Amino acid sequence: MNATNPTYSLRCLNCHVCYDPKGIGYCCPACGEAGALDTLYDYRSLASQLDRDALASRTAEGMWRFNALLPQVAPSFRPGLLVGNTPLYRRPGLIDYEPGLTVWIKDESRQPTGSLKDRASALAVGLALQADARVIAVASTGNAASALAGMAADRRLHTVIYVPRTTPSAKLAQMTGFGAEVVLVDGAYDEAFDQCQQACNRHGWYNRTTGINSYMTEGKKTVAFEIAEQTNWVLPELIFVPVGNGCILGSVFKGFFDLLQMGWIERMPRLIGVQAEASNFLYRAWRSEGPMDAVARVAPSSRASSINVAFPRDRLKAMRAVRATDGEFICVSDQAIADAAQALAARTGVFAEAGAAAAYAGLRQWVSTHPGEAASALLLITGSGLKDTQLYMCGDTATSAPAIQHQPV
Ligand SMILES: *Cc1c(COP(=O)(O)O)cnc(C)c1O
Ligand SMILES: [Zn+2]
Repeated sequence: MNATNPTYSLRCLNCHVCYDPKGIGYCCPACGEAGALDTLYDYRSLASQLDRDALASRTAEGMWRFNALLPQVAPSFRPGLLVGNTPLYRRPGLIDYEPGLTVWIKDESRQPTGSLKDRASALAVGLALQADARVIAVASTGNAASALAGMAADRRLHTVIYVPRTTPSAKLAQMTGFGAEVVLVDGAYDEAFDQCQQACNRHGWYNRTTGINSYMTEGKKTVAFEIAEQTNWVLPELIFVPVGNGCILGSVFKGFFDLLQMGWIERMPRLIGVQAEASNFLYRAWRSEGPMDAVARVAPSSRASSINVAFPRDRLKAMRAVRATDGEFICVSDQAIADAAQALAARTGVFAEAGAAAAYAGLRQWVSTHPGEAASALLLITGSGLKDTQLYMCGDTATSAPAIQHQPV
């Protein structure tokens, strides 16, 4: 893949106007924050230059082997940690009562800082350095911040992070360990979002925040490219994606959309967005079928901190992902998430954080309401359980699955 400097344009999801990326900030200049941008490539010319099977062999580059289908970041600006190349496991029979279902697990807990967010943060650091930024900031429920701090660490790019005071301590430990400046916000993610944006406007910092920085979709979509490679370009019927802001869901869609434009896959999988019951704006919006402006913003109270968001900032892309693939939004209780995390860990050895385990809770629920309907499904396990072990300990959440059981051997 020697395609350097491919051209791309930016198209607003709200007003559909196309822009030349030069001189465009993070979102549509006419629509502001409501105007998320799609990054669209010259697929026809890329398809004539690129060989999909040749890409798979370039694993030493991690996600950067897909550079021709990303906003260009020169190699000298890329963070040094290896991002991407996470394993995909095939687990037929993972759900006992659905023996015909083959389950795939894409394990993003294996990223350098332990979550899928590394894919976006690596791109953000590259873009910021390339734009000569001295400071990069983010509002986060935790993982985007850990990822940003980790990706910036070897590049001496100063990071300023806005997170809720309630962010799990292992994530805070990562941020401070990586040398970030951490601002603990009294409030939920939504308050952190506002404070970060104000600071960026005031100081001219590069803003990595999801929903403002439309390029984050491009970094995260590389997970879809890897899934396609790893399933030999024949995708599972269903993909279960945990949803907070909706960026990951929108990114998975965008990755498969790109591959479809390239002629590298034949059809889209159905995308199932899984929300926590106590943080379910998109689920309610999808059910209502009305305009999203009319959907109430409810203070979120899920213990799955990484999907705990009142007002999803990437809602347009997330809604499109579900609508355009004949998918669904579903929501699951915190108890169902805790049970699913426990079951996944005990049966597969994949140790998911709560937000990630929501994907498995979603699959279990979906199968119980659609028995026998699908032959294959993939769980996107977005982050590591080591970042928030509370879920696995005896006590408030995992009542049906005691953490410690002594049995005779
Ligand atoms: C961020 C995150 C999510 C949700 O992603 P959104 O883009 O906010 O929808 C899910 N799981 C984990 C582990 C995360 O870090
Ligand atoms: Zn617009």
